[in-house]
Amino acid sequence: MVEMKADAERMAQQHPAFADWAFEDGHLLVGGIPVGQLAQRLGQTPFYAYDREKITARVKALRAALPKAVRLHYAIKANPMPAVVQHLSGLVDGFDIASANELDVALDAGMSDAHISFAGPAKTDAELKRAIAGGIVVELESLSEMDRCAKAGDSLGMTPRVAVRVNPDFKLRGSGMHMGGGPSQFGVDAEMVPEMLSRLAGLGLAFEGFHIFGGSQNLSAEAVAVAEDQIADLAIRLADHALTPVRHLNIGGGFGIPYTPKDKAFDLPLVGARLHETVEKLGRALPGTAVIVELGRYIVGEAGVYVCKVIDRKISRGQVYLVTDGGLHHQLAATGNFGQGIRRNYPVAIASHYGEEPVETVNVVGCLCTPIDLLADKISVPRADVGDLVAIFQSGAYGRTASPSRFLSHPEAKEALV
Ligand SMILES: *Cc1c(COP(=O)(O)O)cnc(C)c1O
Repeated sequence: MVEMKADAERMAQQHPAFADWAFEDGHLLVGGIPVGQLAQRLGQTPFYAYDREKITARVKALRAALPKAVRLHYAIKANPMPAVVQHLSGLVDGFDIASANELDVALDAGMSDAHISFAGPAKTDAELKRAIAGGIVVELESLSEMDRCAKAGDSLGMTPRVAVRVNPDFKLRGSGMHMGGGPSQFGVDAEMVPEMLSRLAGLGLAFEGFHIFGGSQNLSAEAVAVAEDQIADLAIRLADHALTPVRHLNIGGGFGIPYTPKDKAFDLPLVGARLHETVEKLGRALPGTAVIVELGRYIVGEAGVYVCKVIDRKISRGQVYLVTDGGLHHQLAATGNFGQGIRRNYPVAIASHYGEEPVETVNVVGCLCTPIDLLADKISVPRADVGDLVAIFQSGAYGRTASPSRFLSHPEAKEALV
């Protein structure tokens, strides 16, 4: 037992992400099952395994920190596995979708159409029709999309429910991926919104509210709190121009998760406390407006691992290479090629010698014929041989479906919700 504790502490020291995961007899456990057994059950490596309890716990933590009045939405594109979405349908208040196929997943999971909204550029007429027929809220990204949406509603004999996605006139600081502030394909420039609102009602559209999303993977809770307050102020300003009440305001999210040992975990209590003030202000200015926070990565990102198998172990000019059956075709982001400026290792461990003392420095690579297929650069690990399993942590969001799975025509990764 004492030895076990020392092993756990050693893992936590290597990377805070490891501290949250249990292991037994040198095997990482997902949902209480050793990853080796999971590999047998799934009949293959590589695979993604998502821990149901961790997802549930994260939503609970969010509920505890955020004001009660805030509605929590899950952004499906972070992880659209139907079982994951189904699990979340009983935990969150709504879903945000980014394609008509995500609409199918959202509705199949049992979420009420009233609490699903569809954002994203380049919605086709066919997608707009599917969304309107599904009774969900269309987040308008441009004035011309508004016109097409009205036409689609006419052709169906239905009144489309719409919200206006606003491109704010300020930038969110500290965000990994900016999605507003300057010129953008996302949303309607804040200064054009009054004109849009004046035309909207005449087109036979039902106005629901505003959606203002500042960016993704923000680790600065202070920056998020400031942005949320600025977003509230902007919505209050724009609401003056709406002909009907603002029924909801989606203030985005973008809460980040730590990937490197230096990344500090997102300060959720701070954002929660500050949001209480923002929500109160909104309640005074816009009584009856529901406030929505939408999150993808923060809800599922830390609940998943990607597991692959060592196929070859070789030494090249003094460096050890663990050559695996995994790679960037399944886990692009872990190789630093998913919009990151600089490549940094994700937390990576030998899942079949988990908790053991590191004895050597290795590179973990994938099976693709490109030097960018590097899963871990010079990490310190226990001895691993052919047949051992490698786990990449923080893989619950933007993993399988955010990777070029057809590249090199290898088999796809499987997924399990455990
Ligand atoms: C991608 C996206 C999200 C989810 O972002 P996370 O960083 O995963 O929380 C939320 N809203 C919109 C509009 C998005 O495009």
